[in-house]
Amino acid sequence: MELPPSLRELLEEPPDEIRLVGTTVEEVLHALVDQFPVLQHHVFAPAGTLRTSVIVLVNDDDIRYRQRGRTPVGPKDRIVLVPALAGGAPAARRPRRRTAELSSEERHRYSRHLLLPEVGESGQRKLRRARVLLVGAGGLGSPAGLYLAAAGVGTIGIVDSDSVETSNLQRQVLYDVASVGRSKVTRATTRLRELNPHVRVVPHRVRLTSQNALRILRGYDVVVDGTDNFPTRYLVSDACALLGKPDVFGSVYRFEGQVSVFDARRGPCYRCLFPEPPPPELVPSCAEGGVLGVVPGLVGLCQATEVLKLILGIGEPLVGRLWLLDTLAGSSREVRVRKNPRCPVCGRHPTQRALIDYPAFCGVAGSSERVPEVTPLALARELEREHPPVLVDVREPGEWAIAHLPRARLVPKGSLAERVDGLPRRRPIVVYCKSGSRSATAVRFLLDHGFVDVRSLSGGIDRWAEQVEPTMPRY
Ligand SMILES: [Zn+2]
Repeated sequence: MELPPSLRELLEEPPDEIRLVGTTVEEVLHALVDQFPVLQHHVFAPAGTLRTSVIVLVNDDDIRYRQRGRTPVGPKDRIVLVPALAGGAPAARRPRRRTAELSSEERHRYSRHLLLPEVGESGQRKLRRARVLLVGAGGLGSPAGLYLAAAGVGTIGIVDSDSVETSNLQRQVLYDVASVGRSKVTRATTRLRELNPHVRVVPHRVRLTSQNALRILRGYDVVVDGTDNFPTRYLVSDACALLGKPDVFGSVYRFEGQVSVFDARRGPCYRCLFPEPPPPELVPSCAEGGVLGVVPGLVGLCQATEVLKLILGIGEPLVGRLWLLDTLAGSSREVRVRKNPRCPVCGRHPTQRALIDYPAFCGVAGSSERVPEVTPLALARELEREHPPVLVDVREPGEWAIAHLPRARLVPKGSLAERVDGLPRRRPIVVYCKSGSRSATAVRFLLDHGFVDVRSLSGGIDRWAEQVEPTMPRY
């Protein structure tokens, strides 16, 4: 493997020769970014696809004219990366080159860490080298993300496909009034970069699914589970167990919280604790049951604390222990969690070696699975911008004739599969129907087909008429 100077100078200690193992170009490139995480976003787009701004040559042959990422390679093949350059010197624009020493600005910023013998300069460098993925940028991800960025964790990835709602502001402290209606990942990324420009923040504006989870998680050392639903929780736990990475778990409900560290290499996984999810009708979410705003703050910070302990290798991580917090009683207790020898994922004879269909496993019908949404009022604001989203109407022509949004494209749901290639992949898309159900199915379809920025208009054109355009005919 050969790297151009513009990529080599991003490496702390560029080796003379890079030898990587893999049977396809994609595998070799994943091995490359595993070894040199700083290259991750130069080689792969946030959605995990190969960046089109980098040309990959195998023995001087452009892989776009072969089988792209699936082009087979053998031990004797030479891979060369040729990135598109904007001119100038990228290294000069990157003040945070990962040299071995801390800069004087970093020493000043992290002085309270450096005073702790358990952290010190070497611990701070460990933090800088660490890559932490936040799954969910909500109530748990907000405090965890802010404090991990402040602490100097070098790479923070954020996975979330939601937009900020007013009801989030009671506990999701990454956001403010101006964030409402905007993408959580985008706002969180900006906020963390402002807090600490030494941190590389990697946005993944997608829903974590069985299709993309291994690819996304592979690039990180520790995963913080800040999800609010069972399918994603099992998905995160299974993916971490399969990849051998620690899953720092937190969950909240009303006045209570739970924290643990699932590390299948040395302790139980989430499935060992809960082999099966409760039936969906017995699961009240925070949206239904409510939550005291500070509780996710406490739990998210307990998770961040566990992350720092894991990176620094200090203290006793919550491996094999479930910590229960009861804020009303002002008490906490600890439950021992043992590894289940019959666990299908991490037990003695694992039967599940790949990711499964988690909504089905959790009994959540596909149609009620949440997709990224935008409210009518937020969409109305977005349509006034210079680069508005593309509107796709998935209703039938008869409905379109009654009323439709200006500049929308009519693509009835039944013809979506054959017309998917005509839709723009580089622009945000908002899909709408009458009430938001057909559009949710269409959004799921598009997400499964590699579209990244797709949302469904919540409540459909009906709610649009009610809230934005009262003169529009309704049916
Ligand atoms: Zn297990």
